Amino acid sequence: MAKHVLFTPGPTNLPPEVLEALARPIVHHRSPEFAPIFKQARENLRYLFRTENPVVPLICSGTGGMEAAATSLLARGDQAVYVSAGKFSQRWGAICRAYGIDAHGYEIDWSLGATPDLVQRMLREHPAAKVVFTTHCETTSGSLSDIEGIARVVSGTNAVLVVDAISSLGAEPLETDAWGVDVVVTGSQKALMLPPGMAFVSVSPKARARIESCDSTVFYFSLKKALASLDEGTTPWTSQITMTVALNAAVDLVRRTGGVEAAWLRHARRARAIRAGCETLGMCEYSRAPSNVVMAMVPPDGIDAGRLIRCLRDEFGFTVAGGQERLKGRIVRIAALGHIDDEAILSLMTALEEAFRHQGREVEPGVAAAAAKRALSPPPTPA
Ligand SMILES: *Cc1c(COP(=O)(O)O)cnc(C)c1O
Repeated sequence: MAKHVLFTPGPTNLPPEVLEALARPIVHHRSPEFAPIFKQARENLRYLFRTENPVVPLICSGTGGMEAAATSLLARGDQAVYVSAGKFSQRWGAICRAYGIDAHGYEIDWSLGATPDLVQRMLREHPAAKVVFTTHCETTSGSLSDIEGIARVVSGTNAVLVVDAISSLGAEPLETDAWGVDVVVTGSQKALMLPPGMAFVSVSPKARARIESCDSTVFYFSLKKALASLDEGTTPWTSQITMTVALNAAVDLVRRTGGVEAAWLRHARRARAIRAGCETLGMCEYSRAPSNVVMAMVPPDGIDAGRLIRCLRDEFGFTVAGGQERLKGRIVRIAALGHIDDEAILSLMTALEEAFRHQGREVEPGVAAAAAKRALSPPPTPA
């Protein structure tokens, strides 16, 4: 792998196949050459999202996809509910407030995920809520919500379930159709092995009916316009041609390496290795509902998280993330999303041992790397 490796929950490292696709010449988006590329991309998105629903491509980062969903489903004065457990889930509330949507937030312990019981209570207390906003993996803490159970609760109501799966789609099991999730939002730069710059939003028939009847004022980010164009096999505005080509290359790679299920298993396996390595150094996981998307590790007393992060980056070329908001300075967030090989994980663990030594800790040489290596064997499913 490259000398500088991203162990961050987005952006992530790109495989050579995707880098090559990004270098291809531009074709015109309203041309016979682009039509089959875009058709393939639409099919590939439905494959990744595990859905037969249309998946809208948008040119923006993940947050733009969240904003498109909120503003296409809800008009000023409409009611909604959201679970808040960190920087990203709070964003649902911030977006709604910016547009005069009356969103009621339910804050939970940041080390936990949202549960069906909580969502049931939210809807009981706000029966006029037209939308329930949730976050599959809250990237602030690495916590995972029970989307399957939540979807079961919401599907029996008139409300539309919207899931921010920006960090988790492609890394954690998410069954859009089998679980009955109305709207799923993801971003290009996390587990999908693409650069930053696109969001993708799937829309169920129930959500589409809500969008069609919504007195929304959204223009460019209108899912209504995007869905109408998608029915015609195109986009309302200029398509992100380069990224569409690269998306097909990335999904080809996923298909060639055992499919979406194998990708989930690879993320689980890498997460186990990172946890095992960190635990030998006395780091413990912050989340009590941990995901395989990002591990939020709390350093032992006397070890400074910020210094660990700087040392990994400056001395070894490994980028990991720090804490945000109330977790700032308290945790180290390590993700192994998308394209990362075993060797990079073992090198990261060796570097982490060294970073502990820099802070005066005696660490038996190779202890974290050996634990990670044990967790990595037997070798992965075809890749
Ligand atoms: C990264 C992330 C976002 C925000 O995405 P941007 O691409 O930075 O706009 C939103 N939600 C979650 C859970 C994320 O991990």
